[in-house]
Amino acid sequence: MVRTLDSIESIGVVGAGTMGSGIAQVAARHGYDVVMRDVEEEFVQRGFDSIEDSLDRFVSKDELTEDEAEETVERITGTTDLADLADCDVVVEAAVEDMDIKRDIFADLDEAVPDDVVLATNTSTLSITTIAAATEREDRVVGLHFMNPVPVMKGVEVVVGEKTDEDVVEFAHALAEDLGKETWESDDKPGFVTNRILMPWINEGIRAYDEGVASKEDIDKGMKLGTNVPMGPLELADHIGLDICLDASETLHEELGDRYKPAYLLKRKVDAGDLGKKTGEGFYEH
Ligand code: NAD
Repeated sequence: MVRTLDSIESIGVVGAGTMGSGIAQVAARHGYDVVMRDVEEEFVQRGFDSIEDSLDRFVSKDELTEDEAEETVERITGTTDLADLADCDVVVEAAVEDMDIKRDIFADLDEAVPDDVVLATNTSTLSITTIAAATEREDRVVGLHFMNPVPVMKGVEVVVGEKTDEDVVEFAHALAEDLGKETWESDDKPGFVTNRILMPWINEGIRAYDEGVASKEDIDKGMKLGTNVPMGPLELADHIGLDICLDASETLHEELGDRYKPAYLLKRKVDAGDLGKKTGEGFYEH
């Protein structure tokens, strides 16, 4: 048995980083009670700070009233204790892109929340089936791949694992739609639809820059004006986070071969701690 959408009142979010805080914000904005968990109190607080910044931007654009912004924040509870997710009706995991960490989280969630609760992961590239295998509820694990920034981006990719139940797939679409999103579906193949195609594009942009084809500004400008995308590959990499791009590229490389090898400069930037917007420096200064 899977819970139906009309019985869902509270959403647990694991990870309060770029994506987790965005998912928590959108869920709370749509009336759900949210419990947002990270490993350290300071990371939970950073999540709240970015939610408040984002809500302020909506208020300043007259897309939200101050009262609505305040109510949204009040619906979110922060915690460092996974046990606080025990009463949640569905959980969305958005912790770091690391299979061992995700499997540990799912094994713990499996113990912590009731059997009929769907466990979703926001992974960019990792196998839903492998994550699900860390639980005793493989049929109730699904990919719910939100896009960054979550409060702004309309799309959510629903990823179907080997054992994911058809009712759970339907539930995932319905939940995302209830959060104001539009969905599409992907099989559990490396990178799904979006990152399978996006990551080689980003890496080729980084290689073009590293190999001196053009300045970073001209690579981004060329791709924006030349192909009508809102951000060029280097800007977009900074926006996503270079560490996330490298993790995703390494998974694709491992699974799909040399055409997905991460760009050398991407590795070097990550080693130097320049991860893009989140550290203030990537290909650009932020
Ligand atoms: P992030 O680095 O901004 O945040 C990750 C957070 O997870 C950190 O705050 C970290 O402290 C926390 N964390 C680590 N271990 C944890 C645990 N055991 N329990 C709870 N929290 C834990 O990363 P992000 O960009 O938010 O990415 C999160 C997930 O979303 C990844 O799987 C990533 O691939 C995916 N994703 C990212 C993007 C993007 O553009 N950044 C887009 C779609 C999907």
